[in-house]
Order: sequence, then C-alpha cells, then structure tokens
Amino acid sequence: MIMNVTQSISWACSILTKSNSDDSKISAKVDAEFLLSYVLDKNFTWLKTWPDYELSDQQVNDYRVCIERRKKGEPVAYITGKKAFWELELETNESTLIPRAETELLVEFAVEALKPKVVAKVLDLGTGTGAIALSIAFERKNDQVVGVDFNRDAVLLAQKNALNNKVTNATFLQSDWFTAIEENEFDLVVSNPPYVAEGDPHLLEGDLVFEPDSALISSGDGLDDIRYIVRTTKNFLIPNGQLMIEHGYEQGEAVRKIFEDNQYTEVSTKKDLLGMDRVTMGRTSK
Ligand code: GLN
Repeated sequence: MIMNVTQSISWACSILTKSNSDDSKISAKVDAEFLLSYVLDKNFTWLKTWPDYELSDQQVNDYRVCIERRKKGEPVAYITGKKAFWELELETNESTLIPRAETELLVEFAVEALKPKVVAKVLDLGTGTGAIALSIAFERKNDQVVGVDFNRDAVLLAQKNALNNKVTNATFLQSDWFTAIEENEFDLVVSNPPYVAEGDPHLLEGDLVFEPDSALISSGDGLDDIRYIVRTTKNFLIPNGQLMIEHGYEQGEAVRKIFEDNQYTEVSTKKDLLGMDRVTMGRTSK
C-alpha cells in the first residue's frame, strides 16, 4: 500500500487512539509521530516539512510492526531501544527501568549540591541504563562517578551508554547494592531504587507492565530498599556527605523519618514539577 507521511500518521492514530478523550488523541499522535520519525530516521521538523513523502514498502512494513507493538502496550522506549534523558540519548532494554523525566530532578539537585566542590566522588545505586550516573558525569567532567546494578545486563547497557555518549568519567560495576564497593569516601550517593509496593495497582498500568519488577517493586510497604540504602550509605560517605533518593509521591514523610532515624541532618524533600514529593536528601554528621 502506498502511504505518505500524513496518511501514515493518521492511520497510526486511528489504531492507537483508545478513547474519544483529548488526552488519548494527543498521546496517540505523539507516539505515531515519534515512531514514524524513528522508522524514517528523520527528526520531527523533517516530518512536518515533507508531509507528502511516500514511504517505501519496507518503511510501511516497519512502521506497521512498531504500531502493532505499541497497540499491545509495549513502551515506546523498548520499541525504539532508546530514550532521551538530560543531554544524553540512552539505549534501553527490558533489563532496566525506562528513565523518567521526573528523575532529571534528582540529577538537577545532585549537580546543584556538588557545585561547591571542584572534584567529587559520586555513587549511583541501582543505576539501570546509567541515566543518573551518566548525566552527573556529563555535567561534571572532573568527578569520578560509579554506577552499580545487581543485574549484569543493566551494567553492560550502562557501559554501552557511557561509550555512546562519550562519557569517560563514569564506571559501572555489577554489585548487589554495596557488595562490590570498596571506596568509602563518596561525597554524594544518589539512587532511584525500587519503591513500589507489591500489589500496587500502578504496576498494571502503562510502561510498568513491561518493566522488570526488580526495578520497581520493593518488599513490605515499598520502602525496604530505601531503608537498607539509608542505613548502609552512612558507611560509604565522607563526613558531611550527602544522600539523595527518589521515591513515590506519597512516601515523602516516611522517607524523611527513615533519614532522621538514621541520624542524617538537613533532611528535606523536594517536589517534582507536579508539586509532588519526589526526592529526599540528607547529610551525614560532620
Ligand atoms: N517512578 C516510577 C513509576 O512509578 C517507579 C520507579 C521506581 O520504582 N524507582 O513510574
């Protein structure tokens, strides 16, 4: 079948739109355009400039496959194998969480907190694609950033992302939280750990359905990994070092209490762009 850019997008929208709501129409259009630009290997401006460009048979076929996968709910980032985060383009796969826009907030606070230091040592626990570690390393070329993940495939992916983005000051290790860490003088420890409680209905929605449970779910009330990290990180920070953790929007108070129970000082929670509690931080004593 012969289809041009405009026809392809409206065909994809008709497949992907789930309801009559504006949200559903907008999100279908965003996905349809994003996936077409991926298949054609052209940017968004190109799509707008060449609405009459006719797709080759191969391109029509590739686009059809992408749209069918998306229709089944597969995340766009797994279909294209990539996701933009901070200033980087990261490869993604089923071994890791897909980097979220809200996690850029953690990077922002980390970079801000490190400003007074000319050089710093930073540890990212549960690094996944390497998103947080690589963004900090990218912003602060003199720092040494270490990212760990217990999943070997995630470590390989993060290493590949470092190479692809030409980040040379971040190293990645396979480690079950701290097991492979020998250094105990980090200036800053950051983490976006699993924090969703088992049985949380969000796990049945959107991208989460396709993402690994190990990156999402933490036992008990969803806070067991955060408890472990907060308790153990103290042994890996310099005096007056900082810990910053991303968590769920309803967990701010509980996470602050965990920090305080572990004698961290200057404990505070930052809100995301939607005004929701998102990142809690604190310092070890001097
Ligand atoms: N913020 C993610 C979500 O609920 C969860 C990420 C995580 O558990 N670290 O979409």
